Amino acid sequence: MKDEPLQSYRKKRDFSLTSEPRGELPGGDRSADDKSTGERIFIVQKHAARNLHYDFRLEVDGVLKSWAVPKGPSMDPKQKHLAIAVEDHPLDYASFEGRIPAGQYGAGTVIVWDTGTYRNLTELDGQIVPVSRALENGHISIWLEGRKLKGGFALTRTGRGWIMVKMRDEEAKPSMNILKAEPASVLSGKTLEEMEKTGD
Ligand code: MN
Repeated sequence: MKDEPLQSYRKKRDFSLTSEPRGELPGGDRSADDKSTGERIFIVQKHAARNLHYDFRLEVDGVLKSWAVPKGPSMDPKQKHLAIAVEDHPLDYASFEGRIPAGQYGAGTVIVWDTGTYRNLTELDGQIVPVSRALENGHISIWLEGRKLKGGFALTRTGRGWIMVKMRDEEAKPSMNILKAEPASVLSGKTLEEMEKTGD
């Protein structure tokens, strides 16, 4: 039997202590367009937990499929960055930023570093592969229309985790360190350090 969606997410958290959203159960209506190339949301959160990392999340079938990317996304197609698959998050996590209290899972400060929509580009034999299938197969190609991240990106599962890479296209910026150039939240305008001081 398939686990309840978000079961793993909820088990890890005490919602009387953390201000993270509990999340509604995914509705059936948002998964109906899975076979199409319709636009869905993506977000990147910068998270100063025990180790600083970026959380990359894609809306798939009413939840946010999630990876922790220790080095963060890059606009340089030569950079292959490890992306560790983590538990699905609820859709309303997309607007969460603030502090997760000490002692709680993922304790530390979070900002929404980027947000936007994505399109599925994954093809096999000239046919679009649905996102959920592509993830099961271990390879997905997507086009991001974020405030910061733009263009094609690919995620590929390997023996030691997923690898995230910028695809070679007109949006690639090999010499740009986008993490340094654009450090602030796209929601509040705060840097992680400012959020740490002021809270949410
Ligand atoms: Mn995280």
